[in-house]
Amino acid sequence: MDTTNTGKTGTAESDVIVIGGGAAGLSAALLLGRARRSVLLIDGGEPRNAPAEGVHGLLGHDGVPPGEFLARGRSEVQEYGAVIVPGRVTAVSREGNRFAVVTDDGSTRRSRRVVVATGLVDRLPDLPGVRERWGRDVVHCPYCHGWEVRDRAVGVVATGPMSLHQANLFRQWTPDVTVFSHTAAPLGAEQVEELTARGIRIVDGPVVGLEIVDDRLQGVRLADGTVVAQEAVAVATRMEARVDFLEPLGLRPVEHPSGMGTHLPVDPQGQTTVAGVWVAGNATDPSAQVIDSAAAGAAVARFVNADLVGEETAAALAHHREHSAAGTVPA
Ligand SMILES: Cc1cc2nc3c(=O)[nH]c(=O)nc-3n(C[C@H](O)[C@H](O)[C@H](O)COP(=O)(O)OP(=O)(O)OC[C@H]3O[C@@H](n4cnc5c(N)ncnc54)[C@H](O)[C@@H]3O)c2cc1C
Repeated sequence: MDTTNTGKTGTAESDVIVIGGGAAGLSAALLLGRARRSVLLIDGGEPRNAPAEGVHGLLGHDGVPPGEFLARGRSEVQEYGAVIVPGRVTAVSREGNRFAVVTDDGSTRRSRRVVVATGLVDRLPDLPGVRERWGRDVVHCPYCHGWEVRDRAVGVVATGPMSLHQANLFRQWTPDVTVFSHTAAPLGAEQVEELTARGIRIVDGPVVGLEIVDDRLQGVRLADGTVVAQEAVAVATRMEARVDFLEPLGLRPVEHPSGMGTHLPVDPQGQTTVAGVWVAGNATDPSAQVIDSAAAGAAVARFVNADLVGEETAAALAHHREHSAAGTVPA
């Protein structure tokens, strides 16, 4: 089928609408385009790692700027006929055996299957300086930024149990790690002993902000005015899946078992409890890196294509049998 609707209100439909054009969505669109499916990709243009300088740990493209990586992906996807439109999806609902996808400009597009690849939102600790420095010298993921802050003074502003895990991980990259207890529950004797054994310092009391001078992080400011010098700060974000638009289908995000935030659960093939709706990337797996998200998008695309092939085979068989029984020639 090659009836992708690129108009605003037309009634033509696509085989698949992919919602979200980050690593997961583009990768799904690439495989589906190569499978000769008509694909419409709708993207809000706000990838999670936009503030970062480079994408690290991405084999073959280590350090590529996120915008450049996605631009290459978009152009590859378009080579196979997929149509990419900017826009934010506000609702997805069922219309018989089709899905109706509504965007914020009021357009409705229809498809046989939907791939959700809208990622997540990082809810940052509400501290002066954190948002401004996010993705630069305020970081969360040692695998994304650990190498860049190796051997530097890294302060972990603790907000919960994940922060201690984070401190222990960053210790792999630098011997100079300080945990600021901030709003985390008081540390137990065993936790203190463990951190101390790893050479991680502990500073008690709430943090009131980050000290920034001349566009550079200088340190962490405590309630008594003391500034503890730091070259980078690690925070644990609350990660919330961006899937509110699936509410009309009865799909809602739930708490992730890790305690990191919310996600939309899927089966081992990436399908939700609503047949025909698949999810890939951070929207279902908050710990997925770019390479994992791209791999998940590709895997989901193969399952979606197989599902469509199954549906088409069943229809062809029914048609064939009908004509065999009647002794007529199938059209
Ligand atoms: C600061 C920072 C640095 C990072 N650095 C690295 C790194 O170095 N290496 C690494 O591997 N990983 C890194 N990551 C993790 C990386 O960002 C994620 O693994 C990756 O973005 C997940 O891809 P995704 O396709 O699931 O989601 P995203 O990349 O977030 O893409 C989702 C897309 O969906 C769109 N969207 C959302 N809602 C809607 C809607 N309703 N309608 C239409 N479109 C919508 C968004 O605008 C966005 O374009 C970093 C993360 C952060 C926060």
